[in-house]
Amino acid sequence: MFKTSGYAAFDPRSPLGPFEFERRDLQPTDVRIEILYCGVCHTDIHQVRNEWGESVYPIVPGHEIVGRVVGVGTEVKKYQAGDLVGVGCLVDSCRYCEDCEDDLEQFCPHAVFTYNSLDKHTGKVTYGGYSREIVVEERFVLCISDKFAAPEKLAAVAPLLCAGITTYSPLRHWNVGKGDKVGIVGLGGLGHMGVKWAHAFGAHTVLFTTSPNKKEDALRLGADEVVVSRNEEEMKKHVRSFDFILNTVAAPNDQNPLLALLKRDGVLCLVGVPDHPHPPIHASALVLYRRSLAGSLIGGLKETQEMLDFSAEHDIVSDIELIAMPKINQAYERMLKSDVKYRFVIDMATLGA
Ligand code: NAP
Ligand code: ZN
Ligand code: ZN
Repeated sequence: MFKTSGYAAFDPRSPLGPFEFERRDLQPTDVRIEILYCGVCHTDIHQVRNEWGESVYPIVPGHEIVGRVVGVGTEVKKYQAGDLVGVGCLVDSCRYCEDCEDDLEQFCPHAVFTYNSLDKHTGKVTYGGYSREIVVEERFVLCISDKFAAPEKLAAVAPLLCAGITTYSPLRHWNVGKGDKVGIVGLGGLGHMGVKWAHAFGAHTVLFTTSPNKKEDALRLGADEVVVSRNEEEMKKHVRSFDFILNTVAAPNDQNPLLALLKRDGVLCLVGVPDHPHPPIHASALVLYRRSLAGSLIGGLKETQEMLDFSAEHDIVSDIELIAMPKINQAYERMLKSDVKYRFVIDMATLGA
């Protein structure tokens, strides 16, 4: 084991603060990474505040990691010291189940998440990316194009590792493309990436927001139209017109008005995971036009690499606000007020500053 440092939450209510801890030594198939940037996902807040009821303290959050390889185990083939790499929400899985064989490791019953999960090597809890270094199995390390090597670009790539893949995957799974009318609900970290992908895939993209002041940004990010979801008149204009809607909102919200906007056979897919249930769904909202309500969880390693390669090819990265590590508690407060433009990313050089 070797010593490293980071920022942790010590209980559900106190601010995050500095934390010293240990990481495992390099195993034969491990990659040791110096973390340069880490994105701030709303999941970090849910977990830090124990909103899903399964947090183990201290928690070192962070699963939107980019950095540089500083060492590799004896059997590592894909990476060498100096390579630019990424780590997302997953750091291990069983490799043999149906889900792993289908490259959908996120659904593996033995999936190990980047933080607040059980490390198979040490038997201890995993610690995430709000830290100086991390050690991850080669299979769960992603390759980042040298096109993104400039520091400002690299920082903006970090959110792709969760916000990027979580929105890319369902849009691909439901074959969103040219000729489709697609809705993205919520312009936060996930939502702004959803808008960028839907636009890049050629869909007519409509952003639903509770923040009228985000309208201009949404259009700049790639939306063709913006709807203020609390305005019933605006909502009415879109009844039975959507092929697909992706709901990224981090708080309970009513799905019935969104279902009403779907065409026959349309799909409403949830990716937001609020602490409390959404209001009940009327059966008629689904039954009448054979609509589906679905969900989606991040993406497997193969698809995450595909997404990163697509982003390099099309020069698509996140719109970020770079922050120093000690500013993390203020960043959480702003996210809770929907005041994020459109992802906070921590500059790890400021750890301890
Ligand atoms: P975020 O950056 O905080 O954005 C959430 C957006 O939701 C806000 O900017 C806001 O957009 C909208 N919103 C409306 N009412 C809100 C309220 N009362 N509280 C908070 N937001 C509200 O969050 P995120 O990082 O994109 O994450 C969104 C959700 O997805 C979280 O629940 C997170 O845990 C979940 N998530 C799921 C997966 C998965 O694999 N399924 C992966 C990552 C994250 P407007 O201002 O435009 O209304
Ligand atoms: Zn996340
Ligand atoms: Zn498995």
